[in-house]
Amino acid sequence: MNFLYLFGIMKIYFRDNFCTIYKLQLNFLVTYLTDKGVDIVYNPAQADIIILGLCAAFEADEARSIKIIEENMCFALGGGKKIIVYGCFSKVREDILKKYHEIKYVYLWEIDKILNELCINNDDFYPYESMWPSNFRLKEDYRVYDKKKKFIGISTGCSFDCVYCPHKLGSGNLKSRKLDSILEQINQLKNEDVEKIILTGTDTAAYGKDLGIEFADLLEAIMAELDKMQKNIKIRIAQFNPEGLNDKYETLLKLCKDNRVEEFQMPIQTSSNRLLNIMNRKYTKNQVSEFIEELRKDNENIFLRTDLLVGFPTETMDELLESVEFANKYFDEVAIYKFEFKKGTAMEKCKFDYLSEEEKERRKRNVYEILGNTKCLHHSGGQDMDSLISSDFQKEGGMKNG
Ligand code: SF4
Repeated sequence: MNFLYLFGIMKIYFRDNFCTIYKLQLNFLVTYLTDKGVDIVYNPAQADIIILGLCAAFEADEARSIKIIEENMCFALGGGKKIIVYGCFSKVREDILKKYHEIKYVYLWEIDKILNELCINNDDFYPYESMWPSNFRLKEDYRVYDKKKKFIGISTGCSFDCVYCPHKLGSGNLKSRKLDSILEQINQLKNEDVEKIILTGTDTAAYGKDLGIEFADLLEAIMAELDKMQKNIKIRIAQFNPEGLNDKYETLLKLCKDNRVEEFQMPIQTSSNRLLNIMNRKYTKNQVSEFIEELRKDNENIFLRTDLLVGFPTETMDELLESVEFANKYFDEVAIYKFEFKKGTAMEKCKFDYLSEEEKERRKRNVYEILGNTKCLHHSGGQDMDSLISSDFQKEGGMKNG
């Protein structure tokens, strides 16, 4: 029994460098604990327990996560405080965590185990059936703060199996939130001054595959809910693997032609069908181009975002240049990521000649040079946070002044 909790004096400090979906899930956990009488403090020195939510998507994220651990270890060593780590880092860099005997860690898909660590009964802890907050915990969690923008986390983990993927390695298999709990969350926005909602997850195209429904069904239900609320709220769709175009294509297209859908992020990674096949991503560049050409006929101002993976093993310069040309033709924003090998992914089983770091860097610079002469926004996301933040300000400023 945890006497601190029993006597309602448990103080917990949270720190994270999570991506959007896990910031929302973390805020759900913090809200749950607050409702249980736990005191959330904002200075680790005042805490009994320190919970760190750590990302491991890219090497740059791993470095940031290790820095956060080191900044808090003094409280465990000197202060006798308990440190619990959870997040993709727990799985992707379990090797590092094993060196810290003072640290307890749980995998991202075992969030309920945090309550066990706190000796708090979790009989009523149902993150996938319950309402989630539509905001992040802290103002500093936002790259561009906009109180009229709300986030709707729809699922964690993923059902696709891209061979290189650190996200699935760290977050596990797909878990979708129940449709009703998402619609209830949307409905709760009726009394708020909301201009746009962002549908987000590790991969939104995977939504519902563990519930026997598809993403298009969710989008249709959300639009019907907004109609019922008589609210003209814009919709942005994040992180949609184009493999999702294989499901309810016509329905999805019809829904996205609605001008309320103002942004759609579809990471293509490459336009080379040969490479897509090796990556185990089951779509073709023609599927993507046909969808976008049809979409823009009725929703011409939709802002389309994508990701390009640069330097994937066996990638030729022709394939890379063709992918950049394709991305510039069909998308308004491109995130340019240098390929990184991750232990624990299916890549380990594949025999490849990997490109050198220098060659990958040279190709990335090349892509920046090409896109630098176009109107296409570009950055390198978590691999280069400054580029991402400046791109966001450019975009939001532009869309605001649209
Ligand atoms: S769709 Fe995205 S999250 Fe899912 S396995 Fe592929 S890269 Fe990873």
